[in-house]
Amino acid sequence: MNIINGKEISASIRAEIKAEAEKMTVKPGLAVILVGSDPASQVYVRNKNKACEEVGFYSEMYTLPEETSMEELLGLIDQLNQSPQIHGILVQLPLPKHLDEEKVILAINPEKDVDAFHPVNVGKIMIGNHSFLPCTPAGVMELLSRSGIDVTGKECVVIGRSNIVGKPQAMLLLHANGTVTVCHSRTKNLTEICSRADILVSAIGKAKFVTPDMVKEGAVVIDVGINRDENGKLCGDVDFENVAPKTSFITPVPGGVGPMTITMLMKNTLTAAKNIENK
Ligand code: NDP
Repeated sequence: MNIINGKEISASIRAEIKAEAEKMTVKPGLAVILVGSDPASQVYVRNKNKACEEVGFYSEMYTLPEETSMEELLGLIDQLNQSPQIHGILVQLPLPKHLDEEKVILAINPEKDVDAFHPVNVGKIMIGNHSFLPCTPAGVMELLSRSGIDVTGKECVVIGRSNIVGKPQAMLLLHANGTVTVCHSRTKNLTEICSRADILVSAIGKAKFVTPDMVKEGAVVIDVGINRDENGKLCGDVDFENVAPKTSFITPVPGGVGPMTITMLMKNTLTAAKNIENK
Protein backbone atom coordinates (compact mmCIF):
# COMPACT_ATOMS: atom_id res chain seq x y z
CA MET A 1 0.00 0.00 0.00
CA ASN A 2 1.26 3.48 -0.92
CA ILE A 3 -0.01 6.66 0.68
CA ILE A 4 -0.27 9.41 -1.92
CA ASN A 5 1.31 12.50 -0.40
CA GLY A 6 -0.80 15.42 -1.60
CA LYS A 7 1.29 17.95 0.31
CA GLU A 8 4.50 16.88 -1.42
CA ILE A 9 2.95 16.69 -4.90
CA SER A 10 1.26 20.03 -4.33
CA ALA A 11 4.56 21.64 -3.26
CA SER A 12 6.33 20.48 -6.41
CA ILE A 13 3.51 21.77 -8.65
CA ARG A 14 3.59 25.14 -6.82
CA ALA A 15 7.35 25.34 -7.45
CA GLU A 16 6.71 24.71 -11.17
CA ILE A 17 3.99 27.39 -11.23
CA LYS A 18 6.29 29.89 -9.48
CA ALA A 19 9.05 29.25 -12.01
CA GLU A 20 6.59 29.74 -14.89
CA ALA A 21 5.19 32.94 -13.36
CA GLU A 22 8.69 34.39 -12.97
CA LYS A 23 9.20 34.07 -16.73
CA MET A 24 6.12 36.20 -17.49
CA THR A 25 6.22 39.94 -18.14
CA VAL A 26 2.91 40.43 -16.30
CA LYS A 27 2.34 39.01 -12.83
CA PRO A 28 -0.66 36.64 -12.79
CA GLY A 29 -3.35 38.24 -10.62
CA LEU A 30 -6.18 36.62 -8.68
CA ALA A 31 -9.14 38.36 -7.04
CA VAL A 32 -11.04 36.51 -4.34
CA ILE A 33 -14.42 37.74 -3.11
CA LEU A 34 -15.89 36.62 0.18
CA VAL A 35 -19.39 37.72 1.17
CA GLY A 36 -20.29 37.29 4.85
CA SER A 37 -18.30 35.72 7.65
CA ASP A 38 -18.63 31.95 7.32
CA PRO A 39 -15.60 30.66 9.32
CA ALA A 40 -14.73 27.82 6.89
CA SER A 41 -14.89 30.21 3.92
CA GLN A 42 -12.64 32.67 5.77
CA VAL A 43 -10.01 29.94 6.18
CA TYR A 44 -10.24 28.99 2.47
CA VAL A 45 -9.89 32.62 1.40
CA ARG A 46 -6.86 33.16 3.68
CA ASN A 47 -5.23 30.02 2.27
CA LYS A 48 -5.83 31.22 -1.29
CA ASN A 49 -4.17 34.51 -0.44
CA LYS A 50 -1.18 32.72 1.11
CA ALA A 51 -0.87 30.46 -1.94
CA CYS A 52 -0.76 33.54 -4.21
CA GLU A 53 2.14 34.93 -2.17
CA GLU A 54 3.93 31.59 -2.29
CA VAL A 55 3.85 31.37 -6.10
CA GLY A 56 4.57 35.07 -6.63
CA PHE A 57 1.12 36.14 -7.89
CA TYR A 58 -0.58 39.49 -7.41
CA SER A 59 -3.77 39.15 -5.37
CA GLU A 60 -6.74 41.21 -4.28
CA MET A 61 -8.99 40.01 -1.47
CA TYR A 62 -12.47 41.49 -1.01
CA THR A 63 -14.37 40.79 2.20
CA LEU A 64 -17.90 42.12 1.81
CA PRO A 65 -20.56 42.32 4.53
CA GLU A 66 -23.31 39.70 4.76
CA GLU A 67 -25.94 42.23 3.64
CA THR A 68 -24.16 43.05 0.34
CA SER A 69 -26.71 43.44 -2.46
CA MET A 70 -26.68 41.64 -5.79
CA GLU A 71 -26.08 44.99 -7.49
CA GLU A 72 -23.00 45.73 -5.38
CA LEU A 73 -21.56 42.26 -5.95
CA LEU A 74 -22.18 42.36 -9.71
CA GLY A 75 -20.64 45.85 -9.78
CA LEU A 76 -17.44 44.54 -8.20
CA ILE A 77 -17.30 41.57 -10.59
CA ASP A 78 -17.73 43.91 -13.54
CA GLN A 79 -14.87 46.08 -12.28
CA LEU A 80 -12.64 42.99 -11.90
CA ASN A 81 -13.66 41.72 -15.35
CA GLN A 82 -12.19 44.99 -16.71
CA SER A 83 -9.07 45.10 -14.52
CA PRO A 84 -5.84 44.44 -16.44
CA GLN A 85 -4.08 43.31 -13.26
CA ILE A 86 -6.64 40.59 -12.55
CA HIS A 87 -6.62 37.38 -14.60
CA GLY A 88 -8.65 35.16 -12.29
CA ILE A 89 -11.83 35.93 -10.33
CA LEU A 90 -13.15 33.65 -7.65
CA VAL A 91 -16.31 34.18 -5.66
CA GLN A 92 -16.18 32.01 -2.55
CA LEU A 93 -19.27 29.79 -2.33
CA PRO A 94 -21.70 29.34 -0.69
CA LEU A 95 -23.07 32.87 -0.87
CA PRO A 96 -25.61 34.24 1.63
CA LYS A 97 -29.14 33.06 0.73
CA HIS A 98 -30.38 36.40 -0.67
CA LEU A 99 -27.73 36.32 -3.43
CA ASP A 100 -28.29 34.37 -6.65
CA GLU A 101 -25.23 32.13 -7.13
CA GLU A 102 -26.11 31.24 -10.71
CA LYS A 103 -26.34 34.90 -11.74
CA VAL A 104 -23.06 35.65 -9.98
CA ILE A 105 -21.23 32.84 -11.78
CA LEU A 106 -22.70 34.01 -15.12
CA ALA A 107 -21.38 37.53 -14.47
CA ILE A 108 -17.73 36.39 -14.34
CA ASN A 109 -15.89 36.68 -17.65
CA PRO A 110 -15.36 33.00 -18.65
CA GLU A 111 -11.72 33.85 -19.48
CA LYS A 112 -11.23 34.80 -15.82
CA ASP A 113 -13.39 32.02 -14.36
CA VAL A 114 -10.59 30.10 -12.64
CA ASP A 115 -13.04 27.94 -10.67
CA ALA A 116 -14.41 26.71 -14.04
CA PHE A 117 -18.03 27.02 -12.85
CA HIS A 118 -19.29 29.23 -15.73
CA PRO A 119 -21.50 27.24 -18.16
CA VAL A 120 -19.09 28.12 -21.00
CA ASN A 121 -16.25 26.41 -19.15
CA VAL A 122 -18.44 23.52 -18.02
CA GLY A 123 -19.41 22.98 -21.66
CA LYS A 124 -15.79 23.07 -22.79
CA ILE A 125 -14.92 20.41 -20.23
CA MET A 126 -17.71 18.22 -21.58
CA ILE A 127 -16.35 18.58 -25.12
CA GLY A 128 -12.78 18.00 -23.95
CA ASN A 129 -11.52 21.35 -25.20
CA HIS A 130 -10.99 23.11 -21.91
CA SER A 131 -9.29 26.31 -20.82
CA PHE A 132 -9.59 25.53 -17.13
CA LEU A 133 -10.39 22.37 -15.24
CA PRO A 134 -12.36 22.52 -12.00
CA CYS A 135 -9.79 22.59 -9.22
CA THR A 136 -10.63 19.56 -7.07
CA PRO A 137 -11.18 17.00 -9.87
CA ALA A 138 -8.10 18.37 -11.69
CA GLY A 139 -6.14 17.92 -8.46
CA VAL A 140 -7.26 14.29 -8.32
CA MET A 141 -6.06 13.71 -11.90
CA GLU A 142 -2.66 15.22 -11.02
CA LEU A 143 -2.38 12.97 -7.96
CA LEU A 144 -3.07 9.94 -10.16
CA SER A 145 -0.67 10.86 -12.95
CA ARG A 146 2.15 11.96 -10.64
CA SER A 147 1.79 8.68 -8.75
CA GLY A 148 2.27 6.79 -12.03
CA ILE A 149 -1.33 5.52 -12.13
CA ASP A 150 -2.65 5.09 -15.67
CA VAL A 151 -6.42 5.47 -15.96
CA THR A 152 -6.72 3.93 -19.44
CA GLY A 153 -9.11 0.99 -19.50
CA LYS A 154 -9.60 1.03 -15.73
CA GLU A 155 -12.96 0.59 -14.00
CA CYS A 156 -13.45 3.96 -12.32
CA VAL A 157 -16.24 4.54 -9.81
CA VAL A 158 -17.05 8.04 -8.57
CA ILE A 159 -19.36 8.35 -5.56
CA GLY A 160 -21.06 11.77 -5.68
CA ARG A 161 -22.54 13.74 -8.58
CA SER A 162 -22.18 17.39 -7.55
CA ASN A 163 -21.36 20.01 -10.16
CA ILE A 164 -18.19 20.92 -8.24
CA VAL A 165 -16.69 17.47 -7.76
CA GLY A 166 -18.55 14.30 -8.81
CA LYS A 167 -19.75 15.19 -12.31
CA PRO A 168 -16.56 16.89 -13.57
CA GLN A 169 -14.49 14.14 -11.92
CA ALA A 170 -16.36 11.52 -13.93
CA MET A 171 -15.79 13.53 -17.11
CA LEU A 172 -12.04 13.90 -16.50
CA LEU A 173 -11.67 10.16 -15.83
CA LEU A 174 -13.61 9.49 -19.04
CA HIS A 175 -11.31 11.83 -21.01
CA ALA A 176 -8.40 9.87 -19.52
CA ASN A 177 -9.93 6.71 -21.05
CA GLY A 178 -11.37 5.20 -17.91
CA THR A 179 -14.64 3.23 -17.90
CA VAL A 180 -16.64 5.36 -15.53
CA THR A 181 -19.63 4.72 -13.27
CA VAL A 182 -21.13 7.54 -11.22
CA CYS A 183 -22.95 6.66 -7.97
CA HIS A 184 -25.18 8.82 -5.78
CA SER A 185 -27.70 8.59 -2.96
CA ARG A 186 -30.24 6.71 -5.12
CA THR A 187 -27.76 4.13 -6.39
CA LYS A 188 -28.76 0.53 -5.74
CA ASN A 189 -26.05 -2.06 -4.98
CA LEU A 190 -23.50 0.62 -4.08
CA THR A 191 -21.20 -1.87 -2.35
CA GLU A 192 -21.21 -4.20 -5.33
CA ILE A 193 -20.49 -1.38 -7.82
CA CYS A 194 -17.72 0.14 -5.70
CA SER A 195 -16.04 -3.21 -5.15
CA ARG A 196 -15.57 -3.52 -8.95
CA ALA A 197 -13.51 -0.33 -9.08
CA ASP A 198 -9.83 -0.25 -9.97
CA ILE A 199 -9.99 3.45 -9.12
CA LEU A 200 -12.55 4.58 -6.53
CA VAL A 201 -13.11 8.30 -5.95
CA SER A 202 -15.32 9.25 -3.04
CA ALA A 203 -16.89 12.73 -2.90
CA ILE A 204 -19.86 12.33 -0.57
CA GLY A 205 -19.25 14.25 2.63
CA LYS A 206 -19.90 11.42 5.12
CA ALA A 207 -17.26 10.39 7.62
CA LYS A 208 -15.90 6.84 7.22
CA PHE A 209 -18.65 5.92 4.72
CA VAL A 210 -16.39 3.80 2.49
CA THR A 211 -15.67 0.54 4.29
CA PRO A 212 -13.37 -2.37 3.33
CA ASP A 213 -16.22 -4.46 1.84
CA MET A 214 -16.68 -1.72 -0.78
CA VAL A 215 -13.07 -1.85 -1.93
CA LYS A 216 -11.42 -4.33 -4.28
CA GLU A 217 -8.05 -5.79 -3.27
CA GLY A 218 -5.32 -3.62 -4.85
CA ALA A 219 -7.64 -0.73 -5.79
CA VAL A 220 -6.62 2.94 -5.91
CA VAL A 221 -8.76 4.93 -3.45
CA ILE A 222 -9.03 8.71 -3.67
CA ASP A 223 -10.83 10.43 -0.81
CA VAL A 224 -12.18 13.89 -1.60
CA GLY A 225 -14.41 14.17 1.49
CA ILE A 226 -13.69 16.61 4.28
CA ASN A 227 -15.59 15.70 7.43
CA ARG A 228 -15.30 15.58 11.20
CA ASP A 229 -15.36 12.25 13.01
CA GLU A 230 -17.11 11.51 16.31
CA ASN A 231 -14.18 13.16 18.17
CA GLY A 232 -14.24 16.27 16.01
CA LYS A 233 -11.09 15.19 14.16
CA LEU A 234 -10.74 15.95 10.44
CA CYS A 235 -11.41 12.86 8.32
CA GLY A 236 -12.43 11.85 4.82
CA ASP A 237 -15.25 9.70 3.44
CA VAL A 238 -13.09 6.59 3.69
CA ASP A 239 -12.54 4.48 6.79
CA PHE A 240 -8.81 4.94 6.19
CA GLU A 241 -7.46 2.65 8.90
CA ASN A 242 -9.42 -0.39 7.73
CA VAL A 243 -9.49 0.33 3.98
CA ALA A 244 -5.83 1.29 3.45
CA PRO A 245 -4.36 -2.25 3.83
CA LYS A 246 -6.52 -3.45 0.89
CA THR A 247 -5.40 -0.71 -1.50
CA SER A 248 -2.43 -0.23 -3.83
CA PHE A 249 -2.65 3.57 -3.43
CA ILE A 250 -4.74 5.71 -1.12
CA THR A 251 -4.99 9.42 -0.27
CA PRO A 252 -5.13 10.45 3.39
CA VAL A 253 -7.33 13.21 4.86
CA PRO A 254 -5.84 15.65 5.64
CA GLY A 255 -2.85 15.78 3.30
CA GLY A 256 -4.30 14.14 0.18
CA VAL A 257 -6.69 15.88 -2.21
CA GLY A 258 -7.11 18.97 0.01
CA PRO A 259 -3.74 20.66 -0.69
CA MET A 260 -4.19 20.08 -4.43
CA THR A 261 -7.36 22.14 -4.81
CA ILE A 262 -5.74 25.52 -4.14
CA THR A 263 -2.67 24.51 -6.14
CA MET A 264 -4.88 23.85 -9.17
CA LEU A 265 -6.49 27.26 -8.63
CA MET A 266 -3.00 28.76 -8.92
CA LYS A 267 -2.44 26.71 -12.08
CA ASN A 268 -5.71 28.00 -13.57
CA THR A 269 -4.76 31.59 -12.71
CA LEU A 270 -1.41 31.13 -14.46
CA THR A 271 -3.22 29.70 -17.51
CA ALA A 272 -5.71 32.60 -17.49
CA ALA A 273 -2.86 35.13 -17.33
CA LYS A 274 -1.04 33.45 -20.22
CA ASN A 275 -4.23 33.26 -22.33
CA ILE A 276 -5.16 36.91 -21.71
CA GLU A 277 -1.62 38.21 -22.25
CA ASN A 278 -1.16 36.22 -25.46
CA LYS A 279 -4.39 37.42 -27.03
P1 NDP B 1 -22.46 17.57 -2.24
O1 NDP B 1 -23.15 17.49 -0.93
O2 NDP B 1 -22.82 18.62 -3.22
O3 NDP B 1 -22.60 16.15 -2.98
C1 NDP B 1 -22.53 14.95 -2.29
C2 NDP B 1 -22.83 13.81 -3.24
O4 NDP B 1 -22.76 12.61 -2.48
C3 NDP B 1 -24.24 13.90 -3.84
O5 NDP B 1 -24.18 13.64 -5.22
C4 NDP B 1 -25.01 12.80 -3.10
O6 NDP B 1 -25.99 12.16 -3.88
C5 NDP B 1 -23.91 11.82 -2.75
N1 NDP B 1 -24.27 11.03 -1.59
C6 NDP B 1 -24.70 11.49 -0.39
N2 NDP B 1 -24.98 10.46 0.42
C7 NDP B 1 -24.76 9.34 -0.29
C8 NDP B 1 -24.89 7.95 -0.02
N3 NDP B 1 -25.34 7.52 1.16
N4 NDP B 1 -24.55 7.08 -0.97
C9 NDP B 1 -24.12 7.50 -2.18
N5 NDP B 1 -23.96 8.80 -2.50
C10 NDP B 1 -24.28 9.69 -1.57
O7 NDP B 1 -20.91 17.63 -1.88
P2 NDP B 1 -19.61 18.09 -2.75
O8 NDP B 1 -19.52 17.30 -4.00
O9 NDP B 1 -19.55 19.56 -2.81
O10 NDP B 1 -18.47 17.62 -1.74
C11 NDP B 1 -18.31 16.27 -1.38
C12 NDP B 1 -17.28 16.17 -0.26
O11 NDP B 1 -16.04 16.64 -0.75
C13 NDP B 1 -17.57 17.02 0.97
O12 NDP B 1 -17.08 16.36 2.12
C14 NDP B 1 -16.76 18.29 0.75
O13 NDP B 1 -16.40 18.91 1.95
C15 NDP B 1 -15.55 17.70 0.05
N6 NDP B 1 -14.83 18.65 -0.81
C16 NDP B 1 -13.49 18.65 -0.71
C17 NDP B 1 -12.73 19.47 -1.48
C18 NDP B 1 -11.26 19.41 -1.34
O14 NDP B 1 -10.59 20.38 -1.68
N7 NDP B 1 -10.68 18.30 -0.88
C19 NDP B 1 -13.35 20.43 -2.41
C20 NDP B 1 -14.78 20.28 -2.53
C21 NDP B 1 -15.49 19.43 -1.73
P3 NDP B 1 -27.31 12.92 -4.44
O15 NDP B 1 -26.85 13.73 -5.60
O16 NDP B 1 -28.22 11.80 -4.84
O17 NDP B 1 -27.84 13.75 -3.31
